[in-house]
Amino acid sequence: MSAERSSRITDVDDKTYIDYVGTWGPAILGHAPILITQTIHEVAKDGISFGAPCPWEIEMAQTIVDWVPSVEKVRMVNSGTEATMSSIRVARGFTGRDKVIKFDGCYHGHVDHLLVAAGSGALTHGEPDSAGVPKAFSDHTIVLPFNNEAAVKEVFDAIGDQIAAIILEPFPANAGLVFPREGYLQFLRDITKKHDTILIFDEVMTGFRVAKGGVQELVGITPDLTCMGKVIGGGLPVGAFGGRADIMDCLAPIGPVYQAGTLSGNPLAMAAGLAQLKALDAADGYTQLEAKGAQLEAGIRKLLEENGLNYTFHRVGSMFCLFFTDKEIWNVDDANGADMDAFKRYFAALLDDGVFIAPSPYETGFLSLAHSAGDIEDTLDAMAKAFKSI
Ligand SMILES: *Cc1c(COP(=O)(O)O)cnc(C)c1O
Repeated sequence: MSAERSSRITDVDDKTYIDYVGTWGPAILGHAPILITQTIHEVAKDGISFGAPCPWEIEMAQTIVDWVPSVEKVRMVNSGTEATMSSIRVARGFTGRDKVIKFDGCYHGHVDHLLVAAGSGALTHGEPDSAGVPKAFSDHTIVLPFNNEAAVKEVFDAIGDQIAAIILEPFPANAGLVFPREGYLQFLRDITKKHDTILIFDEVMTGFRVAKGGVQELVGITPDLTCMGKVIGGGLPVGAFGGRADIMDCLAPIGPVYQAGTLSGNPLAMAAGLAQLKALDAADGYTQLEAKGAQLEAGIRKLLEENGLNYTFHRVGSMFCLFFTDKEIWNVDDANGADMDAFKRYFAALLDDGVFIAPSPYETGFLSLAHSAGDIEDTLDAMAKAFKSI
């Protein structure tokens, strides 16, 4: 069985594109890997959902605990949104506090009280706050700029004993791809520990994508709770959250914090996700993805230089983002300074030439194991033309 299938998508007009959206991250083996389509077919023959634990759910939980450094106990849900929503509920239940700190430009799904200064689609449309969210719902959400220690310190000095949790994408990837400054994540770890505040890493995007254990493995920092999704579902709807056993034990039925889901841990998503994770592991996937990312990066940097463009380029493994500005990017304010019109021309030129990237400069690009060296060469040829047209 082939672990990787296709780096390409075909639209309704029968035009084919090399795809860097990868269903917004999950398709790390490429589209429709035979391994996964066959797994889904085999598992479905025995039952599509039971409403009771299944062996794949147990194995998935064990795999997450083995791979993700901070996770002692884990619960499956059906989306990244549910994972962030439920992790905050359990953090509030555990601490008996209400307030939550999030960062400008970090996206945590469409949880009402987290749709404040969120990234991703909310940014693209220039509407950071969604209609339909009563003001009172976000009264306990404190939004701070990313990579700014003083802003966090100030809040903790004033009301540190009221903060249930800090939630963040440790490498924010929904306002372009942004990296924390040296020492910033350790600072957040230290200040949350000092104030008995729960540190939540939202690794829905980065988990199982940048390394087996996500960003926390790369940087060696252990959050209290971690949100997961995307890659662990093999393309099926999935999410999970987990972390310290004493916090997770606050969840029903052991503890008083209610959480449940009819289709959570369902056999198809669990088996598809496991097949994907095992294939990645067996193929030494993260090493391969790093090599592909490095090939793309070298090519893009060469093209930028040849065209006299000083644009900022960020990459970690198979995730990458080109900012249409020569400024350093440390948060969403910096990203907002990029040249949107240049991006639009670049996007359109690539699309014309059969390369599909996300239609927003605030999104991250994704490589998969199915992207061949030839695909990357073809992409660079298209980019060479696109850079000339901007
Ligand atoms: C995609 C994403 C989510 C939301 O996940 P859904 O499955 O779309 O609900 C949450 N957090 C981050 C960091 C994400 O990238």
